Amino acid sequence: MNFETTKDFAKQLDTTDALAHFRDKFWIPTLNSISENNNPSNQDVVYFCGNSLGLQPKATKNYIEQELEDWKNLGVEGHFHGKNPWLSYHRLLTNQTAKIVGAKKNEVVVMNNLTVNLHLLMVSFYRPTQKRFKILMEGGAFPSDQYAVESQVKFHGFLPNDAIVEIQPREGEEILRTEDITKKIEELGDELTLVMFGGINYYTGQFFDLEKITKTAHKVGATAGFDLAHAAGNVPLKLNEWKVDFATWCSYKYLNSGAGGISGVFINEKYADDDSLPRFAGWWGHDEKARFEMKKGFVPMHGAEGWQLSNSQVLPMAAHRASLDIFEEAGFENLRQKSEKLTAYMEFLIEHFNKEQSKINIKIITPKNINDRGCQLSLVFDKQGKEYHKILTKKGVVSDWREPNVIRIAPIPLYNSFMDCYRFYEILKEIAL
Ligand SMILES: *Cc1c(COP(=O)(O)O)cnc(C)c1O
Repeated sequence: MNFETTKDFAKQLDTTDALAHFRDKFWIPTLNSISENNNPSNQDVVYFCGNSLGLQPKATKNYIEQELEDWKNLGVEGHFHGKNPWLSYHRLLTNQTAKIVGAKKNEVVVMNNLTVNLHLLMVSFYRPTQKRFKILMEGGAFPSDQYAVESQVKFHGFLPNDAIVEIQPREGEEILRTEDITKKIEELGDELTLVMFGGINYYTGQFFDLEKITKTAHKVGATAGFDLAHAAGNVPLKLNEWKVDFATWCSYKYLNSGAGGISGVFINEKYADDDSLPRFAGWWGHDEKARFEMKKGFVPMHGAEGWQLSNSQVLPMAAHRASLDIFEEAGFENLRQKSEKLTAYMEFLIEHFNKEQSKINIKIITPKNINDRGCQLSLVFDKQGKEYHKILTKKGVVSDWREPNVIRIAPIPLYNSFMDCYRFYEILKEIAL
C-alpha cells in the first residue's frame, strides 16, 4: 500500500475503515484523566498501550453487573439458576478462546493467571531426567517467565546455569533468526526436554515461527510450549495445526479483559486423556459427574479442563466475555488485516519523520516483515529515549518505556485510528522542533 504524509490521507483511511466504529465500543482515556498530565482538555489521548493493558469495553460493566445481580438475587443458587449458571461459566468462553488461538474446544480452558498457569503447565511438561533436562528460552524473555523457569529448574534439583539455555540474536542484530533457533535446538538434541518461548517477544515485538520451532523441538524429542501474552488477540495463531504441546496467555493485554484478568491455556489434544502426565490437581479438574460426590481419588476431566483447580472466577470471566464478544463481532481476520495496515502506516510515518529532520533518529527494532510481527513497534531513540518518553506522555501519548532502551507503541485495530498514528507523528515533529 502506498501511504501519504498528509492529515487528509489519515482521515481518508479512517473514513474507509470498515472497523472504525468499533472504537465507540471502548472507553478512551482523555488528556485530563491521565495523571501525569495537567492538560484540561477532554480530547482523547493517543492510546498506544493496549499491549500492556487493553482498554475497557463499554459493555464490560453490563456483563459484570449481570453476575452481581444474580448473586444479589439468587445467592448460591446462581451456580445453577443464574442467567449464566456459574457451575459451567468457563464454558461460555471456550468457543471464542479456541478460535483466538486456533485450537479445538477440548484443548482450551480459561483459569487462573498467566504465571500461575506457566507453573502448572511446567509441572506437566517439564519433567527433566539426568540426561535430558535442558530448557531453551529466548534471551531476554519477560522476567516473570524467567523466574518461573528458574524456580522450576531448581525445584527439580538442577542449577539454572546448567539447565536453562538462552538464545541471543547475532552480534549487532536485534531479532532472532529462525535458522539460529532451530540450529540451537538440534545442537542441544537429546539434552533438550523443553522449548519455552514467548510467542511474541515483549521487548522487540518479534513474532516467532512457532510452527517451525515446534517441529524442530519434536524432531529432537523435546516438547514445545509458548507464552502467548503478546500474541493472543494480536496475531493469527494455529496451535492445533502447528502441533504445539502447550501454551498460556493473559487476557488483559490485547484481549481487553481488565487488570489481572483471567488467563487461558492450551493443551494439545494428544494429552487430553493422558493420565501419565503429572499434574497438580484440584476439584474443578475432577470428573464433572462425580465432582460433588466428594470422594477420594482424582479422576481428571477430558482435555484442558482437567487442569483446572478451582471453581470459575466468574467476575473476571464476565469481563473476558465482554471483550471476546467484540472480537467475535469484528472477526479476527478483519482485525488482522486492519492491524497490518495500521502498523505499516505508523512505520511509514516514523520513517518519514526520520528523513524530515535531523534532531532525533528513531530506529524500529521490530521486524519489518509483517508475518514476523503483530501490531507493536519497538522504538529506539538515538538519544535520551527515556526523557522523550516522558515528553510524549505529557503531550498525550500513552505508550510504555521498557528498560534498557525501548519505547513500545501498539496501534490496536479494535480501537486505534489512523488519525491516532497521525497525531503521534505530529507530536514527534513538535518535540523535534
Ligand atoms: C504480561 C506478561 C506476563 C505477566 O504475567 P502475569 O502472571 O499475568 O502477571 C508474563 N509473561 C509475559 C511474556 C508477559 O508478557
